[in-house]
Amino acid sequence: MTTLTTNLKHLSNAIGVSGDEGAVRRIVLAAIRDHVDEVRVDPLGNVLAIKRARGRARRGVRVMLDAHLDEIGFMVVGANDDGTLKFRAIGSVDDRILPGKVVSLGPDHIPGVIGLAPVHVAEDETRIKKIEALAIDIGASTKDEALSAVKIGQTAAFTTQYRSLGATVSGKAFDDRAGCAILIEILRGPRLPVDILAAFTVQEEVGLRGAQVAAYAFKPDAAVVIDATPANDLPTTLERDVSPNTRLGDGPAIYVMTRRDLSDPRLVKHFTSVGERLHIPYQIRQPGGGGTDAGGIIRSRAGVPSISVSVPARYIHSPVSMIDLSDVRHTIELVRESVARLTSQLLARK
Ligand SMILES: [Zn+2]
Repeated sequence: MTTLTTNLKHLSNAIGVSGDEGAVRRIVLAAIRDHVDEVRVDPLGNVLAIKRARGRARRGVRVMLDAHLDEIGFMVVGANDDGTLKFRAIGSVDDRILPGKVVSLGPDHIPGVIGLAPVHVAEDETRIKKIEALAIDIGASTKDEALSAVKIGQTAAFTTQYRSLGATVSGKAFDDRAGCAILIEILRGPRLPVDILAAFTVQEEVGLRGAQVAAYAFKPDAAVVIDATPANDLPTTLERDVSPNTRLGDGPAIYVMTRRDLSDPRLVKHFTSVGERLHIPYQIRQPGGGGTDAGGIIRSRAGVPSISVSVPARYIHSPVSMIDLSDVRHTIELVRESVARLTSQLLARK
């Protein structure tokens, strides 16, 4: 395994549900510490690191690169008399995928399963159960026993381990540990002619909160958000007009518009022309719904021109997603080369 895939594996396997990102933060800090000029953790838990431009060629442009630390998951909100735990989603999770899944609860990683009546007795249960009607079973037989192992307010996460599947890899949290691994790789690489302000942010999945305060602290000239975006490329869905529409293996997905932001058109033009000049494949993500940390960053201070570049991932916000490692490598290249060529003239308003 390369440093990149080793980092990706450790990052994806680590548990860091929104607001509880400590385990992921520690991996990031250890990976970047020797490769940046400054690093600190801000009051919300964002990792903020600076890698300055190299001497002669430096051109006074300060670019924020953002990837979020957190993943979707759950919070324990109560216990039932039978010893099972009530829970709610943190971030957007489809209720249909929950029954029968294994989760890890709290700082002690208590194993649990989201219970499902077996097929033998469930014949007339055709309706999909809402999360409110489901419970996590940790093997406790009373309410007290359950709450002595897991406390109300503790988080839970899926536990799927990272695996290599040909050119692709699967794991539970490529949204956005793929972005974290990419940003780490860029920081570990050579200095660029622009100052890199790296933000590994908290609480993206619950409202882009960490990114907003990180952008306030950095006051960047421009921002590039690196995330994972839904791929919708399987044969059964190809005929439909779907949004988003990205495909595995076709390169990084450049955003133009989401529900929360419009990418700066000058940055879109710059990134696509760098991709073309250097023969780095890219795809344009279908403009439409969704959102990234860019939605928080553009509104920071007096406004920050931003763009998002994402790794296409199948089945995100589920217990297992799948990405193509060539897309990861091309995202590193496209972001690094595009950011290295940013100038103050490009960002000047006329
Ligand atoms: Zn994300």
